[in-house]
Amino acid sequence: MIIDLEQQALEHNALRADVCIAGAGPAGIVLALELARARPDWHIVLCEAGGTGNATEAERDIYRMALGEKSYSVADICRRRRLGGTTAHWGGWSKPLDATDYEDNPAWDVPAWPITQAEVQRYMDSALAWTEITSTEFDLSRVRDTIAQHLLPLRVDGPITEHAFRFSPPTRFGTRYYNDINQQDNLTCLLHANLTRLDRAGERITQAEVKPLDGAAALITAEHFVLAMGGLETTRHLLNLRGEAAADGEGIFSDHLGRYFADHYGPRAGNLLAPEGLKYHRFSNDGQPIMPVLTFSADHIRKERQHNTCMTLNASSGEGSVLHQYGSQSGLNFKPGNYWQYQVQMIVEPRPNPLSRIHLTNERCALGLRRLKLDWQPHRDDFDSAYTFYQTLGGELSRTGLGRFQITRQNTAEHQARASGACHHLGTTRMAARPEDGVVDTDLKVFGSQNLYVASSSVFPRYGYSNPTLTIAALSVRLAQHLAGQKEAQA
Ligand SMILES: Cc1cc2nc3c(=O)[nH]c(=O)nc-3n(C[C@H](O)[C@H](O)[C@H](O)COP(=O)(O)OP(=O)(O)OC[C@H]3O[C@@H](n4cnc5c(N)ncnc54)[C@H](O)[C@@H]3O)c2cc1C
Repeated sequence: MIIDLEQQALEHNALRADVCIAGAGPAGIVLALELARARPDWHIVLCEAGGTGNATEAERDIYRMALGEKSYSVADICRRRRLGGTTAHWGGWSKPLDATDYEDNPAWDVPAWPITQAEVQRYMDSALAWTEITSTEFDLSRVRDTIAQHLLPLRVDGPITEHAFRFSPPTRFGTRYYNDINQQDNLTCLLHANLTRLDRAGERITQAEVKPLDGAAALITAEHFVLAMGGLETTRHLLNLRGEAAADGEGIFSDHLGRYFADHYGPRAGNLLAPEGLKYHRFSNDGQPIMPVLTFSADHIRKERQHNTCMTLNASSGEGSVLHQYGSQSGLNFKPGNYWQYQVQMIVEPRPNPLSRIHLTNERCALGLRRLKLDWQPHRDDFDSAYTFYQTLGGELSRTGLGRFQITRQNTAEHQARASGACHHLGTTRMAARPEDGVVDTDLKVFGSQNLYVASSSVFPRYGYSNPTLTIAALSVRLAQHLAGQKEAQA
């Protein structure tokens, strides 16, 4: 059932639930529906700040935040406040994290994921179904034969390999799952229900206060509470809760809270001259969208302690029109054939950096919550890793006579300062095996709390280059099974 608090107040302005979830983006919707279906004997309450349409200016203002030295040019467009959350305008690029993304990088001083890739993969089929991804082969080697003419003939044991992205239609969760939410008997979804306060008794959250911007507050009591308000708002609420707790003398939550903020980004540092017709970009193969990307091999990442980084290519100005025949110039020693110029685009894996963080300012929004300041500090290593990738791929191409790199932008501080984010909010409530290393445990429960959980990419401890939503959905399915008491023993 869906109730809009702007249209209808709750009886006695109160509800009792088994699980109360704040935030109805993909994380919250997957969690709520999985849980409601798994436990018909439970009542789930899903509180969403927005309605079914675009947010008003006053609602958007709640997200306004201060910025540190580094600009964040996507600050105004990186989050939506409506049923379905930011999937109202996501692009649908999808790929599970790679094996190396879950592993420790000994050159970095932060612990790896405390759960294995295999553990997350167990929930991937469900995540693919929720995001309506029908082409599910992400291992390019298994479909390589069908598109080999569009790919570079790379050495099998070399440092460079390929992976594939797939695509959600993209699923707009708010419209696609509206009826499912509305028709689920044991699920109540409250719209215009902004979470404004969590009340605490010792280590337990006892109730959540929600309210429309102009309207009466309602209190939701529950056994378990889950914050699924996106990577910034979830952390903001925890920081606000910690602020209130500190005021009564009881500090809670780890010092990692708010730290390790990361987003994906990538330098466009130059051009590649390579054989014509390469397709390291999105195209249709047998009616299914696919996007091959060039990456370091897993062995190379482990041996050289590299970041997991990928590259796409786009023919510079219309296929066939660029540098046609250029490669036949004898000085280049290229293999015979036609060569095109491609613009390269990198997506680098951000190194988790504790200095890159969000904190609270003293300014309060209309809900009475302290606002955020985003002090985004990408690690210099990220850029170095991207340029190492250029050099490594360039070396492979020149030794095989298949191409050359032209670096047009050097790895300077000025170039680094221009990096802008991809709206993926990672890392500020990192998952860890021990409270010393993170904010939530392997069950996504906040350390120091008995019944407060986080469903968001903010729990990722290492980020890879894959877009996060597929993994967010997989973690939500996993959390639903954990809360429902159905989770099998961990792999
Ligand atoms: C332009 C753009 C393109 C993107 N493209 C891709 C892509 O191609 N692939 C990919 O994987 N990802 C992409 N993303 C990122 C993707 O949208 C997010 O990873 C995903 O939406 C995160 O899901 P979420 O449920 O954690 O948060 P959100 O989708 O942000 O949902 C959070 C929900 O919480 C609600 N909320 C906020 N505050 C409160 C409160 N106080 N009380 C109650 N509810 C609250 C919000 O209204 C919202 O509905 C893109 C993002 C943008 C902006």
